[in-house]
Amino acid sequence: MTGEEILKMTAAELGRKIKTGELSSEQVTAAYIDAIKAEDGKYNSYITVCDDAAAQAKEIDEKIRSGELTGPLAGVPIAVKDNICTKGILTTCASRMLSNFVPPYDATVVKKLKDAGMVILGKTNMDEFAMGSTTETSYFGPTVNPCGTNKVPGGSSGGSAASVAADLAPISLGSDTGGSIRQPASFCGVTGLKPTYGTVSRYGLVAFASSLDQIGPIGKSAEDCALLYDIICGEDTKDQSSVSYDGVNVENVTGFDVSGKKIGIPEEYFGEGIDEDVKARVMEAVKSFEAKGAVVETFKMPIMEYAIPTYYIIACAEACSNLSRYDGVKYGYRPEGVDNLMDLYIKSRSEGFGMEVKRRIMLGNFVLSSGYYDAYYNKALQAKALIKKAFDEAFEKYDVVIGPVAPTTALTAGESLSDPLKMYLGDICTVLINIVGIPAVSVPCGNDKNGMPVGMQIIGKHYDEETILGFAANYQRG
Ligand code: GLN
Repeated sequence: MTGEEILKMTAAELGRKIKTGELSSEQVTAAYIDAIKAEDGKYNSYITVCDDAAAQAKEIDEKIRSGELTGPLAGVPIAVKDNICTKGILTTCASRMLSNFVPPYDATVVKKLKDAGMVILGKTNMDEFAMGSTTETSYFGPTVNPCGTNKVPGGSSGGSAASVAADLAPISLGSDTGGSIRQPASFCGVTGLKPTYGTVSRYGLVAFASSLDQIGPIGKSAEDCALLYDIICGEDTKDQSSVSYDGVNVENVTGFDVSGKKIGIPEEYFGEGIDEDVKARVMEAVKSFEAKGAVVETFKMPIMEYAIPTYYIIACAEACSNLSRYDGVKYGYRPEGVDNLMDLYIKSRSEGFGMEVKRRIMLGNFVLSSGYYDAYYNKALQAKALIKKAFDEAFEKYDVVIGPVAPTTALTAGESLSDPLKMYLGDICTVLINIVGIPAVSVPCGNDKNGMPVGMQIIGKHYDEETILGFAANYQRG
């Protein structure tokens, strides 16, 4: 089998071929490392490439041969977003602040990848501290969208999505606080799952907004996302918000039948500000479910008007608190020539954080300040309760809710850097899901008139990943 053939396969196919001995993990890993060396100069999807990948693969091959490793993705390589701690491997969060940070421990998800026999290829580029939608705020330079090189790959998990789209990783891990798995997956034409809050441990994920953050898979198919989700999910005593959860039955996902299932279409997801091509592609996909016997109904979700302010108030409030730990004392960037402790704090934070991170810290401190707490933060929590109620009501009637992932396809590079508000508004379709804590999957569903991928978002009830991934797999089966 040629390197090129290897790079085109899904993670599930690679896993099956490694299991039968048709391919070895060493062979697959070498194909990917060679491709990254040759091609990633164009995309900048990786911040760090693991120089021990071949050695990891060799060890895993031995364990597969001896029967110690038998899982479906044993021997398959993976790229990991650079805000997920990897023992002994640089974990920068794409920030100058953590540009020298080598964690002394593995995140729980990384431990699970290793236990499942997956090879870590490297750490992927992202928006600084996962704040952004374009992967342009990285201290290590922007990532380029493999589907259109003047386009952003989306963000914040832009490197994780671009590496899969460019065949520089068969599968990857991202994190999603307000859309950061789904939106880059949509912009790059790959599949991404934001799991139910609490089902995947956040231990070792560098915190942005802890009540919203969730790690999840990005892959070439819904089956791949289901397989990886099954590996990383599960209760963890190291994360207090973690819940007991058994995962999905992958056969139920790949064999899913949509007939008789009820799909709700929120009118607001197809309203003003949503690109015509995006609406058309998503509705065509919905029609294909209808043709297979699903029942489609539209409904109103006026609460969507409050999505962006609610999300940005909660996310910034939590971010300013989480990021207060970066003070130049314990770890991370420390400036030269400081006079006293206050000077150390000020200089390390002024020089260590980029513009977008500083903007969020200031916004967060503002909404939490004594004079404004009730007017902003408490109001946002009230809106959160109403948003949750709206989804609870929808799921009394529907098995899934479907809409676009983003109002547009990938933006042109540089377009939103000067206009943060415009960038924030682009999160309108994804942030509600994190506020409620429910799962959603982003599935490629054709292209716009310029050939850029459109993503359909399939949203489900808490813990109902099997149904949303089932819909996605059913769509991909054709
Ligand atoms: N684009 C959103 C933001 O900038 C979401 C980011 C994320 O999910 N990490 O906050």
